[in-house]
Amino acid sequence: MQGDPYEILQLQRNASPEEIKKSYRRLAREFHPDANPDDPEAEKKFKEIAFAYEILSDPERKSRYDRFGDIGDTSSMGDPFGGIGDIFESFFGSGFTQSRRRSGPVQGQDLETSLHLAFDEAVFGCEKEVKIKTALACNSCEATGASPGSSRDTCTVCKGTGQVQQVRQSLLGQMMTSAACNACGGMGWVIPEPCQVCGGEGRNVENDSFLVQVTAGVDDGTTLRLTGRGAVGPWGGPAGDLYVQIRVENHQHFERVGYDLVRVLPVKMTQAILGIEMEIETLDGSESVVIPKGVASGHVIRIRGKGVPHLQGRGRGDLLFEVIVETPTNLTSEEEKFIRDFAGSRKEEVTPPDGGIIGKFRSAFS
Ligand SMILES: [Zn+2]
Ligand SMILES: [Zn+2]
Repeated sequence: MQGDPYEILQLQRNASPEEIKKSYRRLAREFHPDANPDDPEAEKKFKEIAFAYEILSDPERKSRYDRFGDIGDTSSMGDPFGGIGDIFESFFGSGFTQSRRRSGPVQGQDLETSLHLAFDEAVFGCEKEVKIKTALACNSCEATGASPGSSRDTCTVCKGTGQVQQVRQSLLGQMMTSAACNACGGMGWVIPEPCQVCGGEGRNVENDSFLVQVTAGVDDGTTLRLTGRGAVGPWGGPAGDLYVQIRVENHQHFERVGYDLVRVLPVKMTQAILGIEMEIETLDGSESVVIPKGVASGHVIRIRGKGVPHLQGRGRGDLLFEVIVETPTNLTSEEEKFIRDFAGSRKEEVTPPDGGIIGKFRSAFS
């Protein structure tokens, strides 16, 4: 189960225990499976709500979440309303709740960060430094959580099993459940002398940085998953994953459309009429582009294989130049006369030099 328990319960970060309880009750009622029969969305939501409450109603887990964003053990459903978690399980699950103990090391949480790339770094790939705030194994206690020279003791309450048997009253009557041992948090051991550096967690929040190879052709919005680059778990538990969201800056001239690169190419009117061969800067250096005689705005010149490299497989997209013909303005009177003569020789009607009827009409009111 993923997600921010505060968000799931529609709460502010500083919500009081009373507010947490209130919000939980309201949402649990709204999404309760009894009230939403055959609605798998509501069922999912209800499970999320119950799980979020399980974290936020447990001071230890809440403080762990607040500090590390760690949702901890996900194996046991909560019992905040005197048995609703159990009832839920008995309707939708195996019929009898058996909370599993936390077995083995607890994995650290997944982390998320973003990585900003220049346009051509994304196109051609690059090596980039990622900086994150994460949890790293405590060097002082070698991730055991026990002060150097001391060690962990077996929990005397559960005798190292991490579980205690309970008889509970629920809406369905008496239920026998086995729950994680409160004394040891289900671990089966306790730390009599916690490490001073990490406070007994076996890990510390630190800034970390490392290099990432960014594959050529990666696009804005892509998420890279770096396995085992998330926070390490408490007491030497394995690290979660790091999700890196790629952000690509815009380019002054080029726009990416799929694997093609598109550049608007302004062309003078005379060049459009008579044609021209131009040198254009591309991401690969300068490229000779032939503008054919009589080209019109909107015409696209395609240069194959000079676009973005395909992420999978070989080859590259195309480089596209979209022609825009620029109409000259601010003509000298000599140039204007020349163009008028040109229009006359082609028998094309244009507004006369004095602006014509429309021009006079406009100037009378301006
Ligand atoms: Zn330590
Ligand atoms: Zn115990």
